[in-house]
Amino acid sequence: MFKVPIFKVPVVLLATLFATLVSTQAGAVPTPNPPPGLVDEAFASWLTIFRQEAIAAGVSGSVFDQAMRGVRPDPQVVTSNDNQPEFVRPVWDYLASAISDTRVANGQAMLQTHARLLGQLEERYGVDREVVVAIWGLETGYGAFMGTHKVTRALATLAYSGRRMKFGREQLLAALKILQRGDIEPQAMTGSWAGAMGHTQFIPTTYNAHAVDFDGDGKRDIWNNIGDALGSTGNYLGQAGWLTDAPWGAEVVLPAEFNYALADKSIQKPLAYWAALGVRLHGGGAVDAGARDVLASLILPAGHKGPAFLIRKNFRTVLRYNNSTSYSLAVNLLADRFRGQGHIRAAWPTDDRPLGRTEREELQRLLTAKGHDTQGFDGIIGGNTRKALRAWQLTQGLPADGYPTAALLGWLRR
Ligand code: CA
Repeated sequence: MFKVPIFKVPVVLLATLFATLVSTQAGAVPTPNPPPGLVDEAFASWLTIFRQEAIAAGVSGSVFDQAMRGVRPDPQVVTSNDNQPEFVRPVWDYLASAISDTRVANGQAMLQTHARLLGQLEERYGVDREVVVAIWGLETGYGAFMGTHKVTRALATLAYSGRRMKFGREQLLAALKILQRGDIEPQAMTGSWAGAMGHTQFIPTTYNAHAVDFDGDGKRDIWNNIGDALGSTGNYLGQAGWLTDAPWGAEVVLPAEFNYALADKSIQKPLAYWAALGVRLHGGGAVDAGARDVLASLILPAGHKGPAFLIRKNFRTVLRYNNSTSYSLAVNLLADRFRGQGHIRAAWPTDDRPLGRTEREELQRLLTAKGHDTQGFDGIIGGNTRKALRAWQLTQGLPADGYPTAALLGWLRR
Protein backbone atom coordinates (compact mmCIF):
# COMPACT_ATOMS: atom_id res chain seq x y z
CA MET A 1 0.00 0.00 0.00
CA PHE A 2 0.94 3.62 -0.27
CA LYS A 3 3.18 3.42 -3.24
CA VAL A 4 5.14 6.62 -3.26
CA PRO A 5 3.37 9.35 -5.19
CA ILE A 6 5.46 11.21 -7.75
CA PHE A 7 5.78 14.74 -6.49
CA LYS A 8 6.68 17.49 -8.88
CA VAL A 9 9.38 19.14 -6.80
CA PRO A 10 12.57 20.79 -7.91
CA VAL A 11 15.29 18.18 -8.15
CA VAL A 12 18.52 18.96 -6.34
CA LEU A 13 21.09 16.51 -7.58
CA LEU A 14 24.11 15.70 -5.51
CA ALA A 15 26.22 16.35 -8.58
CA THR A 16 24.82 19.84 -8.97
CA LEU A 17 25.38 20.56 -5.33
CA PHE A 18 28.93 19.34 -5.54
CA ALA A 19 29.60 21.30 -8.72
CA THR A 20 28.42 24.44 -6.96
CA LEU A 21 30.62 23.76 -3.96
CA VAL A 22 33.67 22.96 -6.02
CA SER A 23 33.33 25.77 -8.52
CA THR A 24 33.74 28.26 -5.71
CA GLN A 25 37.25 26.92 -5.20
CA ALA A 26 39.81 28.36 -7.62
CA GLY A 27 40.96 25.95 -10.27
CA ALA A 28 38.71 23.08 -9.19
CA VAL A 29 37.05 21.11 -11.95
CA PRO A 30 33.46 19.99 -11.28
CA THR A 31 33.01 16.24 -11.54
CA PRO A 32 29.68 14.45 -11.80
CA ASN A 33 30.28 12.20 -8.80
CA PRO A 34 31.15 13.87 -5.52
CA PRO A 35 33.51 11.94 -3.24
CA PRO A 36 31.68 10.36 -0.27
CA GLY A 37 33.30 12.69 2.27
CA LEU A 38 31.80 15.74 0.65
CA VAL A 39 28.34 14.20 0.46
CA ASP A 40 28.60 13.46 4.17
CA GLU A 41 29.53 17.06 4.91
CA ALA A 42 26.65 18.51 2.90
CA PHE A 43 24.31 15.93 4.41
CA ALA A 44 25.46 16.77 7.93
CA SER A 45 24.79 20.46 7.29
CA TRP A 46 21.36 19.64 5.98
CA LEU A 47 20.68 17.45 9.01
CA THR A 48 21.60 20.28 11.39
CA ILE A 49 19.04 22.53 9.73
CA PHE A 50 16.44 19.78 9.61
CA ARG A 51 16.95 19.13 13.34
CA GLN A 52 15.75 22.67 14.06
CA GLU A 53 12.70 22.10 11.87
CA ALA A 54 11.92 18.85 13.63
CA ILE A 55 12.16 20.48 17.04
CA ALA A 56 9.90 23.31 15.85
CA ALA A 57 7.46 20.60 14.72
CA GLY A 58 7.39 19.09 18.21
CA VAL A 59 10.10 16.43 18.07
CA SER A 60 12.33 16.47 21.13
CA GLY A 61 16.03 17.02 20.57
CA SER A 62 16.94 13.82 22.38
CA VAL A 63 14.57 11.71 20.26
CA PHE A 64 16.01 13.29 17.12
CA ASP A 65 19.60 12.72 18.20
CA GLN A 66 18.98 9.13 19.23
CA ALA A 67 17.27 8.36 15.92
CA MET A 68 19.61 10.24 13.61
CA ARG A 69 22.98 9.74 15.27
CA GLY A 70 25.60 8.81 12.65
CA VAL A 71 23.04 8.52 9.88
CA ARG A 72 24.30 8.84 6.30
CA PRO A 73 22.47 8.74 2.96
CA ASP A 74 21.57 5.22 1.87
CA PRO A 75 22.95 4.64 -1.66
CA GLN A 76 20.37 1.89 -2.33
CA VAL A 77 17.58 4.37 -1.58
CA VAL A 78 19.17 6.94 -3.90
CA THR A 79 19.25 4.34 -6.69
CA SER A 80 15.64 3.25 -6.15
CA ASN A 81 14.49 6.86 -5.99
CA ASP A 82 16.26 7.76 -9.25
CA ASN A 83 14.92 4.74 -11.07
CA GLN A 84 12.06 5.68 -13.38
CA PRO A 85 11.43 2.54 -15.38
CA GLU A 86 10.82 2.99 -19.10
CA PHE A 87 8.37 0.11 -19.26
CA VAL A 88 5.49 -0.70 -16.97
CA ARG A 89 4.20 -4.18 -16.45
CA PRO A 90 1.01 -4.95 -18.38
CA VAL A 91 -2.03 -5.14 -16.11
CA TRP A 92 -2.55 -8.84 -16.97
CA ASP A 93 0.99 -9.72 -15.86
CA TYR A 94 0.57 -7.72 -12.67
CA LEU A 95 -2.73 -9.42 -11.86
CA ALA A 96 -1.40 -12.90 -12.69
CA SER A 97 1.33 -12.45 -10.11
CA ALA A 98 -0.83 -10.58 -7.58
CA ILE A 99 -3.51 -13.30 -7.67
CA SER A 100 -1.26 -16.31 -8.11
CA ASP A 101 -2.48 -19.69 -6.87
CA THR A 102 0.23 -19.57 -4.19
CA ARG A 103 -0.96 -16.22 -2.88
CA VAL A 104 -4.55 -17.48 -2.88
CA ALA A 105 -3.62 -20.67 -1.01
CA ASN A 106 -1.44 -18.83 1.52
CA GLY A 107 -4.20 -16.31 2.11
CA GLN A 108 -6.75 -19.05 2.70
CA ALA A 109 -4.39 -20.58 5.24
CA MET A 110 -4.04 -17.18 6.99
CA LEU A 111 -7.83 -16.81 7.08
CA GLN A 112 -7.97 -20.09 9.01
CA THR A 113 -5.00 -19.42 11.28
CA HIS A 114 -6.21 -15.96 12.27
CA ALA A 115 -9.95 -16.62 12.12
CA ARG A 116 -10.62 -15.45 15.66
CA LEU A 117 -8.63 -12.22 15.29
CA LEU A 118 -10.24 -11.49 11.92
CA GLY A 119 -13.68 -11.98 13.44
CA GLN A 120 -12.82 -9.36 16.06
CA LEU A 121 -11.62 -6.98 13.35
CA GLU A 122 -14.85 -7.38 11.42
CA GLU A 123 -16.81 -6.56 14.52
CA ARG A 124 -14.76 -3.56 15.52
CA TYR A 125 -14.17 -1.91 12.13
CA GLY A 126 -16.97 -3.21 9.92
CA VAL A 127 -14.52 -4.54 7.34
CA ASP A 128 -14.55 -7.91 5.62
CA ARG A 129 -11.79 -10.29 6.66
CA GLU A 130 -11.02 -11.28 3.07
CA VAL A 131 -10.11 -7.75 1.98
CA VAL A 132 -7.83 -7.22 4.97
CA VAL A 133 -6.00 -10.47 4.27
CA ALA A 134 -5.83 -9.63 0.54
CA ILE A 135 -4.08 -6.34 1.33
CA TRP A 136 -1.70 -8.16 3.67
CA GLY A 137 -0.93 -10.69 0.93
CA LEU A 138 -0.30 -8.05 -1.72
CA GLU A 139 1.75 -5.73 0.41
CA THR A 140 4.20 -8.17 2.00
CA GLY A 141 3.24 -11.74 1.06
CA TYR A 142 1.58 -12.08 4.50
CA GLY A 143 4.53 -10.60 6.33
CA ALA A 144 7.28 -12.37 4.38
CA PHE A 145 8.72 -9.22 2.73
CA MET A 146 8.33 -6.18 4.94
CA GLY A 147 11.52 -4.40 3.89
CA THR A 148 14.81 -4.21 5.76
CA HIS A 149 15.72 -0.55 5.33
CA LYS A 150 16.09 1.52 8.46
CA VAL A 151 13.17 3.87 7.94
CA THR A 152 14.68 7.03 9.43
CA ARG A 153 17.77 6.63 7.24
CA ALA A 154 15.74 5.88 4.10
CA LEU A 155 13.49 8.89 4.66
CA ALA A 156 16.40 11.19 5.50
CA THR A 157 17.94 10.13 2.18
CA LEU A 158 14.73 11.02 0.33
CA ALA A 159 14.28 14.28 2.25
CA TYR A 160 17.84 15.38 1.50
CA SER A 161 17.83 15.17 -2.30
CA GLY A 162 16.10 13.74 -5.35
CA ARG A 163 12.57 13.82 -6.66
CA ARG A 164 10.73 13.00 -3.44
CA MET A 165 12.15 15.60 -1.06
CA LYS A 166 8.79 16.91 0.14
CA PHE A 167 7.53 13.37 0.72
CA GLY A 168 10.73 12.40 2.54
CA ARG A 169 10.61 15.42 4.81
CA GLU A 170 6.94 14.92 5.80
CA GLN A 171 7.41 11.23 6.39
CA LEU A 172 10.63 11.66 8.36
CA LEU A 173 8.93 14.11 10.71
CA ALA A 174 6.06 11.65 11.11
CA ALA A 175 8.52 8.79 11.72
CA LEU A 176 10.28 10.77 14.45
CA LYS A 177 6.92 11.32 16.13
CA ILE A 178 6.29 7.58 16.11
CA LEU A 179 9.62 7.07 17.86
CA GLN A 180 8.83 9.85 20.31
CA ARG A 181 5.60 8.12 21.26
CA GLY A 182 7.60 4.97 21.99
CA ASP A 183 5.73 2.58 19.69
CA ILE A 184 8.99 1.10 18.39
CA GLU A 185 12.74 1.38 18.96
CA PRO A 186 14.65 3.35 16.28
CA GLN A 187 16.70 0.36 15.11
CA ALA A 188 13.59 -1.84 14.88
CA MET A 189 11.71 0.68 12.73
CA THR A 190 12.33 -0.96 9.39
CA GLY A 191 10.54 -0.82 6.07
CA SER A 192 10.79 -0.34 2.32
CA TRP A 193 13.21 2.09 0.68
CA ALA A 194 10.33 4.59 0.54
CA GLY A 195 9.43 4.26 4.22
CA ALA A 196 6.48 1.82 4.03
CA MET A 197 6.46 -0.15 7.26
CA GLY A 198 5.25 -3.39 8.73
CA HIS A 199 2.91 -6.16 7.62
CA THR A 200 0.68 -3.90 5.54
CA GLN A 201 3.26 -1.23 4.64
CA PHE A 202 1.98 1.91 6.30
CA ILE A 203 3.94 5.08 5.59
CA PRO A 204 4.55 7.13 8.78
CA THR A 205 1.81 9.75 8.20
CA THR A 206 -0.73 6.98 7.62
CA TYR A 207 0.54 5.20 10.69
CA ASN A 208 0.04 8.31 12.80
CA ALA A 209 -3.47 8.79 11.45
CA HIS A 210 -4.73 5.22 11.42
CA ALA A 211 -2.53 2.71 13.26
CA VAL A 212 -4.13 1.08 16.31
CA ASP A 213 -2.95 -0.81 19.36
CA PHE A 214 -5.31 -3.71 18.79
CA ASP A 215 -4.03 -5.98 21.56
CA GLY A 216 -3.91 -3.12 24.06
CA ASP A 217 -0.30 -3.50 25.22
CA GLY A 218 0.36 0.23 24.82
CA LYS A 219 2.31 -0.01 21.55
CA ARG A 220 1.07 0.12 17.97
CA ASP A 221 3.38 -2.58 16.72
CA ILE A 222 2.62 -3.15 13.03
CA TRP A 223 6.02 -4.85 12.58
CA ASN A 224 5.68 -7.75 15.01
CA ASN A 225 2.07 -7.91 16.13
CA ILE A 226 -0.35 -9.23 13.51
CA GLY A 227 -3.36 -7.96 15.48
CA ASP A 228 -1.97 -4.42 15.52
CA ALA A 229 -1.00 -4.62 11.83
CA LEU A 230 -4.26 -6.03 10.50
CA GLY A 231 -6.26 -3.98 13.01
CA SER A 232 -4.59 -0.85 11.62
CA THR A 233 -5.54 -1.87 8.08
CA GLY A 234 -9.10 -2.63 9.19
CA ASN A 235 -9.29 0.71 10.95
CA TYR A 236 -8.02 2.53 7.86
CA LEU A 237 -10.53 0.82 5.57
CA GLY A 238 -13.34 1.42 8.04
CA GLN A 239 -12.50 5.11 8.30
CA ALA A 240 -12.24 5.31 4.49
CA GLY A 241 -15.87 4.16 4.26
CA TRP A 242 -15.75 0.40 3.66
CA LEU A 243 -19.27 -1.03 3.35
CA THR A 244 -19.53 -4.33 5.18
CA ASP A 245 -20.32 -7.33 3.03
CA ALA A 246 -21.04 -5.20 -0.06
CA PRO A 247 -19.73 -6.22 -3.48
CA TRP A 248 -16.84 -4.13 -4.86
CA GLY A 249 -18.22 -4.63 -8.35
CA ALA A 250 -18.20 -7.30 -11.01
CA GLU A 251 -16.82 -8.22 -14.38
CA VAL A 252 -19.40 -7.38 -17.03
CA VAL A 253 -20.14 -7.88 -20.72
CA LEU A 254 -20.81 -4.86 -22.91
CA PRO A 255 -23.29 -4.83 -25.80
CA ALA A 256 -21.90 -4.84 -29.34
CA GLU A 257 -22.66 -1.17 -29.92
CA PHE A 258 -21.31 0.64 -26.91
CA ASN A 259 -20.15 4.19 -26.30
CA TYR A 260 -16.73 3.55 -24.77
CA ALA A 261 -16.46 7.18 -23.74
CA LEU A 262 -18.66 6.16 -20.80
CA ALA A 263 -15.96 3.85 -19.52
CA ASP A 264 -14.29 6.27 -17.16
CA LYS A 265 -13.74 6.13 -13.42
CA SER A 266 -14.98 9.72 -13.12
CA ILE A 267 -18.42 8.81 -14.52
CA GLN A 268 -20.69 7.31 -11.85
CA LYS A 269 -24.21 6.16 -12.73
CA PRO A 270 -26.84 4.00 -11.01
CA LEU A 271 -26.61 0.32 -11.87
CA ALA A 272 -30.05 0.60 -13.50
CA TYR A 273 -28.53 3.04 -16.01
CA TRP A 274 -25.86 0.53 -17.01
CA ALA A 275 -28.41 -2.26 -17.22
CA ALA A 276 -30.57 -0.12 -19.52
CA LEU A 277 -27.56 0.33 -21.84
CA GLY A 278 -27.34 -3.44 -22.18
CA VAL A 279 -24.46 -4.08 -19.78
CA ARG A 280 -24.84 -7.62 -18.41
CA LEU A 281 -23.07 -10.00 -16.08
CA HIS A 282 -21.23 -12.94 -17.62
CA GLY A 283 -23.87 -15.61 -18.12
CA GLY A 284 -26.50 -12.94 -18.77
CA GLY A 285 -27.50 -11.89 -15.25
CA ALA A 286 -28.76 -8.36 -14.54
CA VAL A 287 -26.08 -6.02 -13.18
CA ASP A 288 -28.64 -4.12 -11.11
CA ALA A 289 -30.46 -7.00 -9.44
CA GLY A 290 -31.55 -5.75 -6.02
CA ALA A 291 -29.36 -2.66 -6.34
CA ARG A 292 -30.83 -0.41 -9.02
CA ASP A 293 -29.80 2.85 -7.36
CA VAL A 294 -26.28 1.85 -6.35
CA LEU A 295 -23.71 4.01 -8.12
CA ALA A 296 -21.07 2.36 -10.28
CA SER A 297 -18.44 3.28 -12.86
CA LEU A 298 -17.37 1.24 -15.84
CA ILE A 299 -13.65 0.60 -16.24
CA LEU A 300 -11.66 -1.02 -19.04
CA PRO A 301 -8.19 -1.62 -17.55
CA ALA A 302 -6.77 -2.72 -20.93
CA GLY A 303 -9.06 -0.84 -23.29
CA HIS A 304 -12.15 -1.98 -25.18
CA LYS A 305 -10.61 -5.29 -26.27
CA GLY A 306 -10.08 -6.47 -22.69
CA PRO A 307 -12.26 -7.29 -19.66
CA ALA A 308 -14.79 -4.71 -18.44
CA PHE A 309 -15.75 -4.11 -14.82
CA LEU A 310 -18.47 -2.17 -13.06
CA ILE A 311 -16.93 -0.81 -9.87
CA ARG A 312 -18.75 0.33 -6.73
CA LYS A 313 -17.96 2.09 -3.49
CA ASN A 314 -15.70 -0.57 -1.96
CA PHE A 315 -13.50 -0.52 -5.05
CA ARG A 316 -13.04 3.21 -4.48
CA THR A 317 -12.30 2.67 -0.79
CA VAL A 318 -9.32 0.52 -1.74
CA LEU A 319 -8.27 3.34 -4.10
CA ARG A 320 -8.16 5.62 -1.05
CA TYR A 321 -5.68 3.15 0.37
CA ASN A 322 -3.57 3.09 -2.81
CA ASN A 323 -4.74 5.14 -5.77
CA SER A 324 -4.13 2.56 -8.48
CA THR A 325 -6.90 0.85 -10.42
CA SER A 326 -4.75 -2.25 -10.91
CA TYR A 327 -4.08 -2.43 -7.17
CA SER A 328 -7.73 -2.17 -6.19
CA LEU A 329 -8.65 -4.73 -8.81
CA ALA A 330 -5.96 -7.08 -7.47
CA VAL A 331 -7.04 -6.65 -3.84
CA ASN A 332 -10.72 -7.17 -4.56
CA LEU A 333 -10.23 -10.08 -6.93
CA LEU A 334 -7.86 -11.75 -4.47
CA ALA A 335 -10.47 -11.32 -1.73
CA ASP A 336 -13.00 -12.91 -4.07
CA ARG A 337 -10.61 -15.77 -4.78
CA PHE A 338 -10.51 -16.55 -1.07
CA ARG A 339 -14.27 -17.05 -1.39
CA GLY A 340 -13.86 -19.32 -4.41
CA GLN A 341 -14.73 -16.62 -6.97
CA GLY A 342 -12.76 -13.84 -8.63
CA HIS A 343 -11.74 -15.47 -11.89
CA ILE A 344 -11.69 -13.07 -14.82
CA ARG A 345 -13.73 -14.45 -17.72
CA ALA A 346 -12.78 -12.29 -20.71
CA ALA A 347 -9.36 -12.57 -22.35
CA TRP A 348 -6.76 -9.83 -22.03
CA PRO A 349 -5.50 -8.21 -25.25
CA THR A 350 -1.95 -9.42 -24.70
CA ASP A 351 -0.89 -8.35 -28.21
CA ASP A 352 -1.44 -4.71 -27.20
CA ARG A 353 1.67 -4.14 -25.17
CA PRO A 354 1.53 -1.05 -22.93
CA LEU A 355 3.48 1.95 -24.20
CA GLY A 356 6.80 2.84 -22.64
CA ARG A 357 7.43 6.19 -20.99
CA THR A 358 9.07 7.73 -24.08
CA GLU A 359 6.20 6.51 -26.26
CA ARG A 360 3.64 7.89 -23.84
CA GLU A 361 5.30 11.29 -23.99
CA GLU A 362 5.33 11.11 -27.78
CA LEU A 363 1.64 10.22 -27.76
CA GLN A 364 0.94 13.28 -25.63
CA ARG A 365 2.92 15.54 -27.98
CA LEU A 366 1.19 14.16 -31.08
CA LEU A 367 -2.30 14.47 -29.57
CA THR A 368 -1.61 18.03 -28.44
CA ALA A 369 -0.21 18.92 -31.88
CA LYS A 370 -3.44 17.64 -33.40
CA GLY A 371 -5.47 19.99 -31.21
CA HIS A 372 -6.29 17.59 -28.35
CA ASP A 373 -4.49 19.15 -25.40
CA THR A 374 -3.06 16.63 -22.92
CA GLN A 375 -2.05 19.45 -20.51
CA GLY A 376 1.61 18.57 -20.63
CA PHE A 377 3.99 15.81 -21.69
CA ASP A 378 4.82 13.95 -18.50
CA GLY A 379 4.39 10.42 -19.86
CA ILE A 380 1.65 9.73 -17.32
CA ILE A 381 -1.67 8.60 -18.75
CA GLY A 382 -4.08 10.49 -16.53
CA GLY A 383 -7.55 11.93 -17.02
CA ASN A 384 -6.40 14.73 -19.36
CA THR A 385 -4.50 12.40 -21.68
CA ARG A 386 -7.36 9.89 -21.78
CA LYS A 387 -9.80 12.68 -22.58
CA ALA A 388 -7.57 13.97 -25.39
CA LEU A 389 -7.09 10.45 -26.73
CA ARG A 390 -10.84 9.78 -26.72
CA ALA A 391 -11.50 13.03 -28.57
CA TRP A 392 -8.97 12.07 -31.24
CA GLN A 393 -10.30 8.49 -31.43
CA LEU A 394 -13.76 9.91 -32.15
CA THR A 395 -12.43 12.02 -35.03
CA GLN A 396 -10.98 8.82 -36.53
CA GLY A 397 -14.13 6.75 -36.06
CA LEU A 398 -12.27 4.53 -33.57
CA PRO A 399 -13.68 3.10 -30.30
CA ALA A 400 -13.20 5.99 -27.85
CA ASP A 401 -11.78 3.98 -24.95
CA GLY A 402 -8.92 6.39 -24.20
CA TYR A 403 -6.56 3.45 -23.89
CA PRO A 404 -3.18 4.01 -25.54
CA THR A 405 -1.71 1.21 -27.64
CA ALA A 406 1.26 0.90 -29.97
CA ALA A 407 -1.17 0.63 -32.90
CA LEU A 408 -2.80 3.94 -31.98
CA LEU A 409 0.60 5.60 -31.60
CA GLY A 410 1.51 4.32 -35.08
CA TRP A 411 -1.75 5.77 -36.42
CA LEU A 412 -1.03 9.10 -34.75
CA ARG A 413 2.44 9.24 -36.30
CA ARG A 414 1.05 9.04 -39.83
CA1 CA B 1 -0.10 -3.52 20.52
